[in-house]
Amino acid sequence: MNQKANSDVVILGGGVVGCATAYYLSKLGVKCTIVERDTVAGHASGFALGGLSPLGGAGIPDPLGPLSLESFRMHTELGVALREETGVDTEFQLHTAVNVAYTEEEAAAMRSRLPWQRAQKGFRVDWKEGADILAIEPRLAPGALGGIVTQYVGLLDPYKLALAFLQGAESRGCSMRHGVVQGLIFQGDRVAGVQTSGGTIRCERVVVAMGAWSKDASAWLGCEMPVEPLKGQILRLRVKGPPLLYVSWGHSYAVSKPDDLVWVGTTEELVGFYEAPTKEAQGRMIASALEALPYLLDAEVVLQTACLRPVTPDGLPILGKAPGKEGVVVATGGGRKGIHFSPIMGRIAADLVFQGSTAYDISALAPGRPMAQATVGAGLADPFRF
Ligand SMILES: Cc1cc2nc3c(=O)[nH]c(=O)nc-3n(C[C@H](O)[C@H](O)[C@H](O)COP(=O)(O)OP(=O)(O)OC[C@H]3O[C@@H](n4cnc5c(N)ncnc54)[C@H](O)[C@@H]3O)c2cc1C
Repeated sequence: MNQKANSDVVILGGGVVGCATAYYLSKLGVKCTIVERDTVAGHASGFALGGLSPLGGAGIPDPLGPLSLESFRMHTELGVALREETGVDTEFQLHTAVNVAYTEEEAAAMRSRLPWQRAQKGFRVDWKEGADILAIEPRLAPGALGGIVTQYVGLLDPYKLALAFLQGAESRGCSMRHGVVQGLIFQGDRVAGVQTSGGTIRCERVVVAMGAWSKDASAWLGCEMPVEPLKGQILRLRVKGPPLLYVSWGHSYAVSKPDDLVWVGTTEELVGFYEAPTKEAQGRMIASALEALPYLLDAEVVLQTACLRPVTPDGLPILGKAPGKEGVVVATGGGRKGIHFSPIMGRIAADLVFQGSTAYDISALAPGRPMAQATVGAGLADPFRF
C-alpha cells in the first residue's frame, strides 16, 4: 500500500503525549493525524503505574515546578471532563502518599524538600516520626525513621487516559493511522510531509512524540534528540486485606489500584529497547516489597509488565520548536513522569503548533539544548520515582 494523504498536522507516536497533543489541537479546531506503528498506548503509556506526584521528581521545583503544578491542576479537571466528553473513566482519584525513610540520608533528603512542598497551595505535606508512620500504615515493617505524608497525589489508569485523549480528539476530526514513520519531507527548511511505511502524508506541521524512540528523529531534524530508553517493571499482586495507600521506600513503591490488586514497582534498567519482563527483576521487586511490607508474603503474582521510560541526560523533557526547521515541534522525554506531564506537554505542543508560541515558560526544555552526559539517573534521589 502506498497512499498519499493530507493533514494539517501529523503527530508522530500514539503514546499519551501524542494523544494529549491531538486532544488539545483538536479543541483548537486543527485537523490532525496520529501515526502509530503499534497500538495506542501500547508501550510506556499503557503500562505505567499512573501516579501523579506534582511535588517531587527530576527538575522539581526548578525549573519544572510551575509546569508540574499546572499539569496536576489540569488532571484534576480532566478526570471529569474526559468522562463527560468520551465516556471513558480514567479512574482518576486523589490518594494519600507516604514516603518512608529508613536511613538518615533518606530522611535528610525528604526534609530538605519540605519547605518548598509546604509552600504550595492546595496540598498538605507533613513530616511524621516512625511511630506515626506505622499508625497510618501498620503493615509497614518496623524500623522506619519517619516519612513524608502528602495529601494529595493523584492516581489514574494511564491507558484509559491516553484512550480518552484520543477519543476526545477523534470526536473532533482527528484520525489515527497505523504505520512506521520513516522520515520527514522538507521544502527548504519548512516541513512539508511525513514519510511512513504506508505512504506519504502531506502536512504543514509535525509533532515528534515518539517516546523512548525519539532519538530516531535526530537524523530527520539534523539536531540531536538525546532520549534513551530506561526500562521499568511492575508487579500486580493479589493479596487479602484493606487497600494500601501509596507507599514508597528506597527505590520502590506499592499501592492498591481500582483493579483490587497491589501494584509494586519498580526497576531502572539501561538495557536498550529490550521490553520483556524478567524473572530476575521479579525477584528483586519481591525482595524489596517484603522488606517494607512483610504482609505481601501471602500475595500471588497476577501479572508482571515492563516498559521503557523516555529519559534525557538532564532529566527534563524536550519540549519546543525544532531548531532550524519550520513547522516541527518536539514533545518527548517525559521520563519517569510522562503521564503526569502529559496534559501540559500536549497543551504546550498544541499552542506551539497553533499560534507559534506558548504562555508557559519552557526555556529550560528547548530541543537542541546542551545537556550533561551520562546522567540518565537524574532524579534518583527523589521518593517519587515511577
Ligand atoms: C514502570 C514504569 C512506571 C511508570 N509510572 C509512571 C507514573 O506512575 N507516572 C508518570 O507520570 N509516569 C510514569 N512512567 C513514565 C511514563 O510511562 C512515560 O513517561 C510516558 O508514558 C511516555 O509517554 P510518550 O507518549 O512520550 O511515549 P510512549 O508511551 O512510549 O509512546 C511513544 C509511541 O511512539 C511510537 N513510535 C515510536 N517510533 C515510531 C515510529 N517511527 N513510527 C510510528 N510510531 C512510533 C511508539 O510505538 C509508541 O507507542 C512510568 C514508566 C515506567 C517504565
